[in-house]
Amino acid sequence: MTRSEHNTRPGRSSSQLCRPEKRQRLYARDGFRCQWCQRHASEHGVKLSLDHFLARASKGDNATHNLFTSCTRCNSMRRDVPALTFAFDRATLFDGGADALDRILDRLGAPLPVFVP
Ligand SMILES: [Zn+2]
Repeated sequence: MTRSEHNTRPGRSSSQLCRPEKRQRLYARDGFRCQWCQRHASEHGVKLSLDHFLARASKGDNATHNLFTSCTRCNSMRRDVPALTFAFDRATLFDGGADALDRILDRLGAPLPVFVP
């Protein structure tokens, strides 16, 4: 199956970022923790989402090395602001925006864990 056929399968919406399995592997790679604010999925009220390092508005794709875990709060605050700008503009919120940026770049380069059924 080609990538094009894969993406046009019935029931697959173009707005769907990636398959649930890939999403879970990305969350696992990132320790189920928002890479901006470091809140964990187990903390009260924290909902995880996937954030694009290079925003979709800037032609960023859904490749593994462009996606990282972000809580919905941080993701919606960032919107399409470039990651570098967001990290430094919001440095006070994230207890060191440069640290967050280092952490994200580190995660983007890490391999995805393989789940053994
Ligand atoms: Zn967050």
